[in-house]
Amino acid sequence: MWIKRLGRALAHVPEFTFRRQFSGRIVNGGSCIEVLPDSGSSTLTFPGVWLRDNCRCSTCFHDSSQSRRLDWDKFDTNIQALALHTDESKQQLQITWSDKHKSNYDLKWLKQRSFNASNRRSYLDDFYRPRTRHWAGEEFQQIAAKYNYEQVMQEDAVLQQWLQSLAVYGVALLRGAPLDEGVVRRLAERVGFIRRTTYGEEFIVQAKPGAQNFAYLSEPLPLHTDLPYYEYKPSVNILHCVVQTESKGGSNLLVDAFHIADRLRSEYPEDFERLQRIQVDWNDIGSEDGREFHNIWRAPVICVDAEGQYTRINHSVPQRDSHFTVPIEQVQPWYESYARFVRLARSDAHAFKTQPGDVLTFNNIRLLHGRTGYDDTEQNSRYIVGAYLDWDIIYSRLRVLKKKKAEQITK
Ligand SMILES: [Zn+2]
Repeated sequence: MWIKRLGRALAHVPEFTFRRQFSGRIVNGGSCIEVLPDSGSSTLTFPGVWLRDNCRCSTCFHDSSQSRRLDWDKFDTNIQALALHTDESKQQLQITWSDKHKSNYDLKWLKQRSFNASNRRSYLDDFYRPRTRHWAGEEFQQIAAKYNYEQVMQEDAVLQQWLQSLAVYGVALLRGAPLDEGVVRRLAERVGFIRRTTYGEEFIVQAKPGAQNFAYLSEPLPLHTDLPYYEYKPSVNILHCVVQTESKGGSNLLVDAFHIADRLRSEYPEDFERLQRIQVDWNDIGSEDGREFHNIWRAPVICVDAEGQYTRINHSVPQRDSHFTVPIEQVQPWYESYARFVRLARSDAHAFKTQPGDVLTFNNIRLLHGRTGYDDTEQNSRYIVGAYLDWDIIYSRLRVLKKKKAEQITK
């Protein structure tokens, strides 16, 4: 009887009370807003000042350029929310502010911008920049992903996978490229555009007598990063193997210098501290196509950001200036620490030889690269075409690809 009565009672309750309710409230005297997206989620808290700054109305925000147009000369950082309304059917939050303005926010938009630690972390690791995974030389075969060049050129999903691998591991290999000199340009333009340097757009790595650059010799090329003497460094190296030497040498050497930095940090903290603090003068002097250049940039070997994450590595024996503009007492200790870094890196280097049609791509501000020496013959002369891409351009392309994929899934 009781069950029956309850069943009848339930049947009379309007349907909407069983739907998950979206609610909100003003807290902290108007300076904060709490939003409960539905009964099953936890509360999201938003500072009022941030909400007012990010009002989406056409007076405050220019939709087609996705830019804020709020008049910041008059912006009140002590703005208060006076009234709040949640619209269940539109899934919108409306706030009336102490400056008499009214703002509407989509719940979905708010959730994506939640200040919760886990939401911030996943946005930074998945969308801002993929989280890097550092590797030792012996792990190279497992981490170095291989993709087919033509698939990268034709299929957005494969393009995305390649760029994601490059971002996470700092290296990826494309195979099956044609043997013409236009490959690096077509590949760079599939992503964005080539980054020009002192040495032009595409460059040829071939043994040249009287070379202006150390890389254009057939001698062993010690581990280094390219262009440490630029403030704004080309960030990804594309090396297309057109002809490989049949001699024993000509192998690429690669090291994840973020892994070497991790090792220094945990095993030799004093060396790590010096290498991330002491600024080194990197330089390049010469001329290319009749234009003289003299590049200098001062930067530590290991560069870290405000959160202690590595931003870039600088290392080049030939391109380190004889000017060393630090207090004299820092010189000897720095040399000791740098020698430690160089020895650790060399012992961790992974050697492998690319084949004609391979395009080796790697992060120039993270990996160290080098080459073993080789002997060219008249019939067989090693011939590599290179170009650079910038991370800004790559990350941007990656985000656009990810957004498009997410939109396709929700459609
Ligand atoms: Zn507004």
